[in-house]
Amino acid sequence: MFGFIKKSLNKTVEAIKVVAPKRKITFTKEELEDILLEADVEYDLVELILNEIYQEKVTRDILESKLLATLANAQYEEVQYTAPFVELIVGVNGAGKTTTISKLALRYKNEGKKVLLGAGDTFRAAAIEQLTLWAKRLDIPIVSSKQGHDSSAVAYDAIDSAKAKGYDHVIIDTAGRLHTQTNLANELKKINRICNKAHEGAPHRTVLIIDGTQGNSAITQAKAFNEMIGVDGIIITKLDGTAKGGSVFSIAHALNLPILYVGTGEQPEDLTPFDKYEFVSSLLDALFEEEEEKEEGKQELKELEKPQVTPSQTSTKQDNTEKETDLKKERLEEFLLKERLIYLKDISENVVLVNYSNTPVDTEIEYKNNQWNYIK
Ligand code: GDP
Repeated sequence: MFGFIKKSLNKTVEAIKVVAPKRKITFTKEELEDILLEADVEYDLVELILNEIYQEKVTRDILESKLLATLANAQYEEVQYTAPFVELIVGVNGAGKTTTISKLALRYKNEGKKVLLGAGDTFRAAAIEQLTLWAKRLDIPIVSSKQGHDSSAVAYDAIDSAKAKGYDHVIIDTAGRLHTQTNLANELKKINRICNKAHEGAPHRTVLIIDGTQGNSAITQAKAFNEMIGVDGIIITKLDGTAKGGSVFSIAHALNLPILYVGTGEQPEDLTPFDKYEFVSSLLDALFEEEEEKEEGKQELKELEKPQVTPSQTSTKQDNTEKETDLKKERLEEFLLKERLIYLKDISENVVLVNYSNTPVDTEIEYKNNQWNYIK
């Protein structure tokens, strides 16, 4: 599995290389600003990330913890359900809905599940035809009707049939565009209601498909879908075809929704679970030197570690307060790195909310006697 995300970030890495052609062990905040903007991280988020970095020279570990923090809030929670698991797929036309439905279907089928498709985008004849073609190709049954027919009826029939025949998974396509936004909102709400009527608790997951090549401009559209129907997770398609991979951070941050998978190509196999660690580390590999290379750069680090005090500095009361604040910030960075924690926010002057980087658990740490520690 490892490597698909890295490969699909090739174009984003090429864009980064234009502003950062040489890998280094540290970057200045100004350099990082250019790099993040070039990768299409939204301006406000770039500022937020950089404002939380206190060092002028930024190392890989520091940037890694800040980037992971932007993806930290969005965790997908599995729901309890009685089979079949009903999944509703929403998103604008062209985002990659049909292709992604096929990819998901193949994935579930390969896991040994019995899958059924519902061709719920009855607004477009091409959508019904395309999904039917995929269903044939993957040898997966599909429930469909003619163009212009009621899409909720298709959803109902698909779920009903899956229940009767003991299927594990139903994936239902929906329209990406109708005559007006209100029509679309009403239609999606109706499908939602009918799914629940056909099978209590359904849909168990509503997934929004976002076209990765749109970068940050997809955010407004995604927010609109979330307001219309309530989205549980996102799939970002065409990551392989875009230089705007950094928008993944902005999308996750702006919507506060988990990214379930990313599309890494046009074939049914090209769907990869989104691993935030692999994603962040692939981008950082393009910027920072490897461990062995670090040896050569050790001298540079030593220079950094030297106290940056000039003889002309007078130790006024104000200087001391500034030094204490700097020490507190430095110790915080050290503690976060040592404990593999992600900074979330300041709770009070000496208490900070953090997150264990491998889990959805938040906890508080406190600054006392010149040291950061967990609050007992
Ligand atoms: P829909 O209108 O939302 O159903 O979109 P389609 O599924 O028809 O996809 C639109 C186009 O995007 C098609 O040419 C797909 O092959 C292409 N596409 C979808 N997902 C990906 C992906 O992850 N990578 C690439 N390179 N192309 C994709």
